[in-house]
Amino acid sequence: MPTDLPLQDTDQGELVSGRSPWGRTALHPWYNPLHESASFDVAIVGGGITGSLVAEHLTARGLSVCVLDSEKPGLGSTSASTAMLQWEIDTQLSELSLYYGFDKAAAIYRRSLVAVSGLAKLIQRHDIHCGLRPRSTLYLTSNAGGARELQREMAFRDRAGLPGEFLSHPYLMTEFEIERDGGILSSGAAEADPLLLSWGLLAVAVKRGAYLTNASATQLHAEGARVVIETDTRHVIEAKHVVLATGYSMPGLPMPKLHHATSSWALATVPQDPATLWRDRVLMWEDSRPYLYMRTSTDNRIIVGGEDDDTTDAGVRDGKMPEKIETLRHKLQLLWPQADTTVDYRWCGTFGETADGLPLIGPVPDMPRVLAAYGYGGNGITFSFMAALMIGAMISDTRRDWFDDFALDRETPAFKTFSAGSDCHASGASF
Ligand SMILES: Cc1cc2nc3c(=O)[nH]c(=O)nc-3n(C[C@H](O)[C@H](O)[C@H](O)COP(=O)(O)OP(=O)(O)OC[C@H]3O[C@@H](n4cnc5c(N)ncnc54)[C@H](O)[C@@H]3O)c2cc1C
Repeated sequence: MPTDLPLQDTDQGELVSGRSPWGRTALHPWYNPLHESASFDVAIVGGGITGSLVAEHLTARGLSVCVLDSEKPGLGSTSASTAMLQWEIDTQLSELSLYYGFDKAAAIYRRSLVAVSGLAKLIQRHDIHCGLRPRSTLYLTSNAGGARELQREMAFRDRAGLPGEFLSHPYLMTEFEIERDGGILSSGAAEADPLLLSWGLLAVAVKRGAYLTNASATQLHAEGARVVIETDTRHVIEAKHVVLATGYSMPGLPMPKLHHATSSWALATVPQDPATLWRDRVLMWEDSRPYLYMRTSTDNRIIVGGEDDDTTDAGVRDGKMPEKIETLRHKLQLLWPQADTTVDYRWCGTFGETADGLPLIGPVPDMPRVLAAYGYGGNGITFSFMAALMIGAMISDTRRDWFDDFALDRETPAFKTFSAGSDCHASGASF
C-alpha cells in the first residue's frame, strides 16, 4: 500500500545562530543543483554530520548514494556542535539500568565506547584533517554530596567493564587543580572540528561517486520496493531506501513521546597560553542540569557550553545569548580561574533530547524503506556513527535484537527496579 510522508524543512538559521570557530580552514563541499530526476540505491536527506557518516559508510559498501541538502551541508546543528566525541551517555549507566535493566544498559554503553573508537579509526583511515585528538573525560560532580553518587555510577561502570576511575576531592585538587567533591576520569573519548569532519566525510563519499545536491525534500511517497522523494524543484529522486538525517529539523514524523527540543549555548575564548590549560586537556562535563561542559581547541581556545533550557523559539533563544554567554563565562572563571575568559566566538542552537538519552534510529513506522538517523543528546555525533553502521546493516537485511533499543516507536521508559543480581557479563559490543 502506498504511504506518503510530508517533510518539513526548517531553515538552518532557525536551528543555529551566532558564530562558532569551526571550519575556518576549508571551503564547504561543492554541490550541484538538481538538474534532472534520478534514481539511486539510497537517498539521504540532510548533509550534516549524520548524513555525511551515512554517505561515507554506504558508499564504502558499494551503494549508489544521493545526499540532498536544502542549504549548505554542515551549517545546521553540526556547525554548532562542541564536538566532544564521548561514549558516556547523558543518562548515567546507573539511571539507564533503572529504565532497561543492567545488562541492556551496559551493552548500550559498551557499544557507545566501541563507536567512538570506530569513529576515530575512520577519521584516521581517510586522513581527515579535522583536529581529531584522543582525550579522556572528567565527569565532575556539581554539588556537595554528589561524590557518593558518582562513586556509585563508577561501580556500575566497573561491573560493565567500562574504563574509568573515581577521583576524590584531594586527588582532583592536587592532580587537576579542580575544586570539586569528586569526578570520574575515563579514557576513550576524543574531540574534533565537527564541520571539517563532516565535510571531509562528504568529500570521501563524493569521490566514491555519491551525488551531493542542493534541494529540499518536501514529500516522501513509498510504494513497493521504491521510495520517491518530491523536492522543491521540478525533479524527483527515486531510491530503494531513504535515510532521514535532517537533524533537529523534524519532518512530519509521528515522533515518539520520548523526544524533547531544547536550546543550548556555547562560547570559545581567545587562544590561551597552552601552559595555563588543565591537565591533559581532558573533556570536562558536569552531572548538573543544566550542565556545563568544556574542552579546548587545536588553537588553544577554551570552548564552554551548556545552560540548556526549554526555549524552542529561535528569536527568544537568540535574545538570551548575552545573558547565557555571561553565565557560561562566569562558570568557566569559577572552575578554571587561570583562564583568560575574553570571548571570541558565541553561538547557540536548538538541541534535541530523548527521555532515556538514547538516539532514534531505524525504520519509520509503516515505512520500512525509510530509515531515520536522529542522534540526539550530548553525544549526538557518536550516535550518528552508530546510525551509519546500523543503517548499513538494515539495508542489507541484517538484523540485531539490540537495534530495537533505538527504535522510533519504543516505549517511554517505565521506571524499573534495578536487580542487583543481574548478570553483568553480557556479550561484547560489536556491530
Ligand atoms: C550547542 C550544541 C552543542 C553540541 N555539542 C555536542 C558535543 O559536544 N558532542 C556531540 O556528539 N554532539 C553535540 N551536539 C549534538 C550534535 O551537534 C548533533 O547531534 C549533530 O550535529 C546533528 O547532526 P545532523 O547531521 O543530524 O543534523 P544537522 O547538522 O542539523 O544537519 C541536518 C541537515 O538536514 C538539512 N535538511 C533538513 N530538512 C531537510 C529537507 N527537508 N530537505 C533537505 N535537507 C534538509 C539541513 O539543511 C541540515 O543541513 C551539540 C549540539 C548543539 C546544538
